[in-house]
Amino acid sequence: MLVMLAAGESFVTTAYLGLGSNLGDREKNLATARKLLEATPGIRVTQASSVYITAPWGKTDQDDFLNQVLAIETELAAGELLEAVLNIEKRMGRVRQERWGPRLIDIDIILFGRETINTGNLTVPHPYLKERAFVLIPLLEIAPTAVLPGGESVRAILENLTKNTETGCVKKVTVLKLTN
Ligand code: ATP
Ligand code: CA
Ligand code: CA
Repeated sequence: MLVMLAAGESFVTTAYLGLGSNLGDREKNLATARKLLEATPGIRVTQASSVYITAPWGKTDQDDFLNQVLAIETELAAGELLEAVLNIEKRMGRVRQERWGPRLIDIDIILFGRETINTGNLTVPHPYLKERAFVLIPLLEIAPTAVLPGGESVRAILENLTKNTETGCVKKVTVLKLTN
């Protein structure tokens, strides 16, 4: 498909970002990440979910997380958006030690429009989305009708996950406060 753009016009994509923090001043870290996203050319933050207190996933012997999902509108390509979020993590002082270990800030690309992306360093929809109530719940709060590229509804995915107590149980998902 050929898309014609007028001079100065660019293609805007709605994307959803999953933020998490379980080190330091967790609330401040989420707020700083949001400010840095807002200050990035080509990114506008259009919605923010509540902040949720969640039990750690994958590596459970660590402090609880604060999680939040942001909706953005962006002129960036997906690869550029990944570069921007990794850069914000770095600027905030994130150090990667162990897989799924404690972190000051984590910013994942959950959905990028209706695109399916599988490049060496980027998989969208996020590969663990279907297993993570701590992402699905805040995502549904701001995008109740969200669907995956194939058309599967995010609400159905959450319902399916919470039916399965083996992988689906979330020990704690508490709304901490509304941020806007
Ligand atoms: P998980 O991806 O399971 O949530 P994590 O967030 O702790 O784990 P990171 O160490 O933050 O993993 O990221 C490792 C790499 O994952 C990044 O450098 C990036 O290239 C890659 N990656 C692949 N898909 C995505 C995505 N959708 N969003 C963010 N990073 C991604
Ligand atoms: Ca992550
Ligand atoms: Ca990440």
